[in-house]
Amino acid sequence: MIKVGILGATGMVGQNYLRLLNNHPWFDVVYLAASPNSAGKRYGEAVAGRWHMPTDLPGKFKDIIVEDAGIVEKAVGKCQLIFSAVEMDKKSIIALELEYAAKGFAVVSNNSAHRATEDVPVMIPEINPEHLDIIPQQQKQRGWQQGFLVVKPNCSIQSYMIPIYALMKAGYQIDKMIVSTLQAVSGAGYPGPASIDMIDNIIPFISGEEEKSEVEPLKVFGKVKGGKIAPDESIKISAHCNRVAVTDGHTACCSIQFAGKKPDADEIINIWRNFSALPQELKLPSAPVPTLIYRDEPNRPQPQKDRYAGNGMAITVGRLRKCNVFDYRFIGLHHNTVRGAAGGSILTAELLKARGYLK
Ligand code: NAP
Repeated sequence: MIKVGILGATGMVGQNYLRLLNNHPWFDVVYLAASPNSAGKRYGEAVAGRWHMPTDLPGKFKDIIVEDAGIVEKAVGKCQLIFSAVEMDKKSIIALELEYAAKGFAVVSNNSAHRATEDVPVMIPEINPEHLDIIPQQQKQRGWQQGFLVVKPNCSIQSYMIPIYALMKAGYQIDKMIVSTLQAVSGAGYPGPASIDMIDNIIPFISGEEEKSEVEPLKVFGKVKGGKIAPDESIKISAHCNRVAVTDGHTACCSIQFAGKKPDADEIINIWRNFSALPQELKLPSAPVPTLIYRDEPNRPQPQKDRYAGNGMAITVGRLRKCNVFDYRFIGLHHNTVRGAAGGSILTAELLKARGYLK
């Protein structure tokens, strides 16, 4: 078993790690860390009154003493793989994650701080598994012997990235896309926006989210070249990001335009229903089969009904129809704290293990 530590273990994403890693066949959670406010407490005590998972806190984690995530030395010798999900200012996260990697840890991060760092891959394992090939160059460039750093992208993009990648893989290039997202409150962590701002309301602004949604996909679709990841600039994305009164599950309403040849609607649905990628071929423990679920009902996907599809790891797509401005429109939905955060990172870590990066 690979020994695992979680930074930000008490938060919304951290709690999902514990739920998903309880009884994982490869990963054993032995180290939990959070802010100085939680440090020194038993985990059960640190999350008392703020455990938000649909299942109870697994007993084996209750008595682990929470450490201060800012003191890297505390984790040395206890675990090899670190999942990072701390809420701190960007500069502090950048420095902290580099320090963990320099100390020899394999770091898989949820935070946005390093997504623009040129030699750090931004992983959606179904799309860009070959980006892990940059790890030896990253280690050489930074003088790290054993440690490395990989990250996952923004939690709102998975519901459309995988459907559009499936079409690209089938030979249909997309050059323009407009996406409007309806994002759950759990995406803002706990306690998130005040209830009085959310009930009976929509907030048409999430700081930094539209920029991330327009830039990060280009890096995910990019190529490893000369010790960096060169973004694919051939697709233009325009994003509107909204916070809505949903607990979990980000929805995306997308219009897409193809460059050159265009598939018909039946072919698109067929491509989505038959999509499979490396995580499925490798039978990674968290890889959903199927990855993409196309629903024929005119009123799906819905967060309440579809967010836990494939244990929260599948993407549910629906309402494919012609677009009067671009070529097609569709709706995508995924669970933001599972596929968009903890589950997506666990799948990346499983790929790292399958590729021999976690010995
Ligand atoms: P959260 O619920 O607010 O939890 C934040 C975590 O960070 C808690 O464990 C907290 O510990 C810890 N923390 C706060 N200040 C700290 C400090 N100074 N030093 C060490 N630890 C500190 O946030 P979240 O939603 O889980 O998000 C965590 C990270 O994942 C963020 O960077 C977020 O952008 C990213 N993310 C979130 C989602 C999502 O859907 N929620 C999706 C993708 C990525 P205490 O409990 O002790 O305060």
